Amino acid sequence: EVYYEGRITGAFGAGYMVTTDDGRVFRCRTFPGTQSGNPESSLAAVGDQVEVQVTLSGTDALEGIIMQVQPRRSALIRKRDPRRNRSREKQQVIAANIELLVPVVSAYEPPLTTRLIDRYLVFAESEQLPVLLVVNKMDLDDGVEVRKLMQVYHDLGYRICYVSIYRQSGIDELIEALGGRISAFSGHSGVGKSTIINLLTGVRLKTSRTSWKSGKGVHTTSNATMLPLPAGGYVIDTPGIREFSLADITRENLRFYFREFLQVMPECGFSSCTHTVEPDCAVKTAVGNGVIDAGRYESYLALFYALEDER
Ligand code: GDP
Ligand code: ZN
Repeated sequence: EVYYEGRITGAFGAGYMVTTDDGRVFRCRTFPGTQSGNPESSLAAVGDQVEVQVTLSGTDALEGIIMQVQPRRSALIRKRDPRRNRSREKQQVIAANIELLVPVVSAYEPPLTTRLIDRYLVFAESEQLPVLLVVNKMDLDDGVEVRKLMQVYHDLGYRICYVSIYRQSGIDELIEALGGRISAFSGHSGVGKSTIINLLTGVRLKTSRTSWKSGKGVHTTSNATMLPLPAGGYVIDTPGIREFSLADITRENLRFYFREFLQVMPECGFSSCTHTVEPDCAVKTAVGNGVIDAGRYESYLALFYALEDER
């Protein structure tokens, strides 16, 4: 019997594509005896490191059975459908072993909102995932407004790439920033995510034919694929953050995911201060005197109250 180590680079219903380190691609299936290193969640997902037993190695077809799925270092979990009671159902993994989260927004059409960026950053902080912000369609901006909006994120130490696929600008910086890692791209439909991934990988992902305004009929990303980058690393196209499970984020821990709160929080009058209604709150004082950005604090409040509603 012949065994290979590889990574799941495609998932299609019950079938998986597994790519080995030396570049061989196997069509694989799991079986009832497949060993899982992740008993809480999906048996196998794009990005998983697996051991495959070869069942067919013809000249034009390589097939195998996934014997073992290794424990994941990270996982993007799909949000549960609240209309179904699936409490005993396993967590559905969108992508495994992500090393970089890449929220993609556009300068215009759809318009850039910091509220959405803050949601991504909270998620990334909660998962302890490094994050790279990509602002596309810079050709549609006069070059000042968007950078002004983004200044707060520069000041917080987040890395940002400004690109225009139409003008072919910022691409080299983007490739450099991805740096051979496994990156999950995510964003509102219409921001140009597919166009960017096509350009980076040379693979044609279907781009959305419908406008971002309708929001309907956009390419289905439930069968995620992982595409190799010429300079090393992979990109995975994932759905927008509204599809991600934020189950680990609570009203109690949300405050730790706004990194600028961390320095001032110890000065709050109450050690359990939620920075909402309490008196003697150092965060609110810092917002008042401009040390903490007011828009960021508004995002905090919006998320704080939304978290209760979502439960
Ligand atoms: P996705 O839904 O995020 O995958 O977005 P698409 O890649 O399908 O792109 C949505 C639309 O934005 C398409 O009409 C693209 O041609 C357009 N687009 C992509 N990149 C740019 C850019 O840099 N500038 C402008 N003005 N439009 C872009
Ligand atoms: Zn406080």
